This record gives sequence, C-alpha cells and structure tokens, in this order.
Amino acid sequence: HMADEECDYLFKTVLIGDSAVGKSNLLSRFAKDEFHLDTKPTIGVEFAYRNTKLGDKIIKAQIWDTAGQERYVQINFSSFLSFLHLHILLETTINNIFETDSYRFRAITNSYYRGALGAMLVYDITRNETFENVRKWLQELREFGDPDMVIVLVGNKSDLVDLREVEVEDGQKLAEVEKLCFLETSAKENLNVEDAFLQMITKIYKIA
Ligand code: GDP
Repeated sequence: HMADEECDYLFKTVLIGDSAVGKSNLLSRFAKDEFHLDTKPTIGVEFAYRNTKLGDKIIKAQIWDTAGQERYVQINFSSFLSFLHLHILLETTINNIFETDSYRFRAITNSYYRGALGAMLVYDITRNETFENVRKWLQELREFGDPDMVIVLVGNKSDLVDLREVEVEDGQKLAEVEKLCFLETSAKENLNVEDAFLQMITKIYKIA
C-alpha cells in the first residue's frame, strides 16, 4: 500500500473513455513522467497518486484508470486484489456469485465512480468513433457519478496531425454545449498533459 505523505486534501478522480485512446499513458505521464508504446489493455482497475501544490495547500490526487469496454468482460480477480478497496472486493465477490453481466457491470461501475470528484473523459483525435462515444460516457457519468463532478474533456494524440479525424473545433463545441473544460493533449510528446490534470484538480479545489 502507498505510504500516506502529508497532504491537506485527497481527491479521487477517474479516467474514462474508449479503449486505446491513451488513458493509461496520460496517467503514467502525469504520475511518473513515462510513456509506453505497447498497448496494454487495462483489465480491472489501477490507480496512481500525485501531489500538487496549490498555494500553500498540498493536494493529493488519486487517479483511477480502468478499461472501457473491457469492463464488460471477465475481471482478472488476482490483479484486483493488490489494488482495490475492500468494498470493491466485496462487490466483486457478490458479482461472481450472481454471474450476470449486467450486475457485474453495475457493481464495478458504481465502485469506480463512488466518491470521485473529477473525471477526465478522453477520446482519440485520430478515431472519430471515440469522439462519438463521448456522449455515451457522459450518460454513464450522469447515471453513476456525482452531479457536481468536474469533467475535463481531453482529445488525446494531438501529435498525430496527419491522422486527425476530429477537429479541435469539434471538441470545443461539444465542451461548450456540455459545459466541460476542454484540452487537446499528447501523452507521447507530453503536451498539455500536466495542464489537463491541473485544470481538473484546481477546479475541484475551488468547488470543495
Ligand atoms: P488506454 O486503453 O486508453 O489506456 O490507452 P493506452 O494508454 O494503452 O494507449 C493506447 C495506444 O495509444 C498505445 O499504443 C499508446 O502508445 C498510444 N498512445 C497513447 N497516447 C498517445 C499519444 O498522445 N500519441 C500517440 N501517438 N500515441 C499515443
């Protein structure tokens, strides 16, 4: 378990969005300043921490990362054990007893969003379908998340200019309609990654 450093606030935040949009790499860039070329679909849930100083306060952000569609498939129970809080373990156990997909999905989803004050909703600017699915993710947030949750919309892979399918203006427009913060990022080139997380953390801090 992570040693608890001194901090004034602890915020739980979550990463959501379709598979392979770059969630894990955004997280490892922000938390560890690393980038990985291989795709490692996240099975189950992992989280990382990073401390940020806002004024004279130290904010500890706990950032959860899970797979998108992978949440619908079988959960790797052993990888779970090392990472998750007790309530999730209990729910997963109940889950395994009932063995119904819809129940499993709800249990995981509920635990994932429980207590989260912020969400980073990520799409891939080179795959339009991941942008179209943003609405689906917003629906899920509305169903399971706190109504006051701070949501930052992130168009990732901005370094892949030649492969772009989603224009910057499309992201901006959607963010305006849905009243979200918006940024394009590149986890690979380390563009705006810090800003995206800091915007989310700062906004939560102002509301809290
Ligand atoms: P996740 O499933 O959403 O967590 O996505 P991953 O972080 O595993 O990334 C999926 C793939 O996209 C991997 O091959 C990454 O190396 C790649 N990737 C992630 N972010 C970027 C980025 O900003 N630019 C480029 N070019 N590739 C990226």
